[in-house]
Amino acid sequence: MKVISDLNQATLVDRSLTAVWHPCTQMKHHETFPLVAITKGQGAWLYDEQGKALLDCISSWWTNLFGHSNPKINQAITQQLEKIEHVMLAGFTHPPVVELSEKLAALTEGNLGHVFYASDGASAVEIALKMSHHFWQLSGKPEKKKFVCLENGYHGETLGALAVTDVAIFRDAYGSLLQDVYTVSSPDARKAKKGESAEDVAREAAKVLEQLFATEHEHIAAIIIEPLVQCAGQMAMHSPEYLRLVKDLCERYQIHLIADEIAVGCGRSGRFFACEHAGIWPDFLTLSKGISGGYLPLSLCMTTDAIYRAFYSDQAKHGFLHSHSYTGNPLACSAALACLEIFETEKVLEKNIARSQDLAKAFTWAKADERIEHWRQQGMILAFDVKPSALKNANVFPREMFTKSLDEGVLIRPIGNTVYVMPPYVLSTQETEQMGQAVQRALNRALNG
Ligand SMILES: *Cc1c(COP(=O)(O)O)cnc(C)c1O
Repeated sequence: MKVISDLNQATLVDRSLTAVWHPCTQMKHHETFPLVAITKGQGAWLYDEQGKALLDCISSWWTNLFGHSNPKINQAITQQLEKIEHVMLAGFTHPPVVELSEKLAALTEGNLGHVFYASDGASAVEIALKMSHHFWQLSGKPEKKKFVCLENGYHGETLGALAVTDVAIFRDAYGSLLQDVYTVSSPDARKAKKGESAEDVAREAAKVLEQLFATEHEHIAAIIIEPLVQCAGQMAMHSPEYLRLVKDLCERYQIHLIADEIAVGCGRSGRFFACEHAGIWPDFLTLSKGISGGYLPLSLCMTTDAIYRAFYSDQAKHGFLHSHSYTGNPLACSAALACLEIFETEKVLEKNIARSQDLAKAFTWAKADERIEHWRQQGMILAFDVKPSALKNANVFPREMFTKSLDEGVLIRPIGNTVYVMPPYVLSTQETEQMGQAVQRALNRALNG
């Protein structure tokens, strides 16, 4: 641990390492591993105190869609700031939350017409789990209370969300605090054996799920999945066929489908909602991260009329009595509205088709690289794995790669041996090429150094 003797002499990084406990970090690693102090952002670029530029290839933890300091989002927030910064949402309402709810409902063609708000992604997941559980109580089936989740899935780190998360580093220390769940095999397309397609893997995984549903459906409230990409689970991708099969099984066995689109929603997959690739709507859909453009904490859980109506009663205790202080914050909602307007007026989903092609082109080198396997892409997410045989020390590779990337002017945070990019939707063709080349140089240095 560093002890600062003279605050005036200390750098921002030293002060941070003394007073700030950073997330998802073994703080001791920062003795050798740089902490980066950012003082400015513009478009896809972050700038440190010395003005050194860094291309934000992972959208500041998958949140930023339209660049840092986006003039339209800045303006929407400052205009809202002059009207009302915050008011409680129990017993009160305000224009941004109403407009946002209507717009989101319209994007689901009214299938998910009721929107419940929170601040962080994990809270939106808690809401979906609690609503499903409560729905079955209200429907006279209180024994339907267990949840099903996928191997390698990630849904956040509060205790309810962590229980349905299957990523060892997040769970290991807290296992005894977590409720019991069913974990079924992931449809991860990387599992395909020679001659098998992603659809074959999806059908295999759905078969396993069917066996569980067939015997246990009377005890199961819901299954939670990340449609198309298990992002924190090393960007494992699967066929939309899996979503169609799961939707069918859920209907057959009366089990709720929770689509956690916190990372893959908001255009990331190529459609606004990832579920659209499969032509299905879930019973619950969670959004966060990109919904406010990476500006302010905002999360939400959308659901159907059928579920909403089950809670509608003369009795207070039949209501969904869940709340967070900043639920539906007007500033955050105004940022989200500005984002939806950008989607509409700037034809973002159409333009992202060309952008994702640029992305593929910038990383064609990786397809041919013998040290790399499982090159994969879904919309604005591109990932590949470094073969274990190419790694000198698998434990230090993510940090090595991060450090070498910083030297090359790009922000890359590998997950294990998976290197991925998930950039904001504002990169030019030239910036995308630049990113591909910088990542290649960083990888060469990380693997040879
Ligand atoms: C990030 C993420 C969450 C949790 O969101 P937080 O805002 O970090 O709590 C939940 N689900 C998925 C799929 C995520 O990627």
